[in-house]
Amino acid sequence: MAVIDSLEFARTEQTLRGSLPIPGLARLQDSLHDHLGQVEFAVKGGADARRRPVLTLDIGGTLHLRCQRCLGLLEYPLRLTNTLLLVSRAEVESGALDDGDVEWIIASAELDVASLIEDEIILSLPYAPRHGQGRCTQDSGAVPENTRVSAFAELAALKKDLK
Ligand SMILES: [Zn+2]
Repeated sequence: MAVIDSLEFARTEQTLRGSLPIPGLARLQDSLHDHLGQVEFAVKGGADARRRPVLTLDIGGTLHLRCQRCLGLLEYPLRLTNTLLLVSRAEVESGALDDGDVEWIIASAELDVASLIEDEIILSLPYAPRHGQGRCTQDSGAVPENTRVSAFAELAALKKDLK
């Protein structure tokens, strides 16, 4: 996967487009129902209004997330655009980044694009994705997982008393 020199990439206003195979998104696997779907991205180099180097990310596609209620397939449309300011480690350490609204990453001569895209996707995902009202199989009155667990625990306690 592509590695870019981030400052050079921004200065020369390059664009990189590509797609990422879902099985390659290792840190996302716990949230996924299966390995189908596709993620496409574009990274554009440029400058912001204050002429600082930035990377603009465009990410789109469909992820097959796991519903946290029924553990079934939840098709999640992914569409995000984000602009990241490229900063030096010295700037971060000196506290010069007073602009709290700006997202930034530390500029690197060997920026791993796939890893950056994966970070952005992870940050954008809902903490506990679930089907909408009436579309989840758990809506049919099935007993929620945690209730079942405590029922088993009670049963186990009861058995112990009988001994
Ligand atoms: Zn569900």
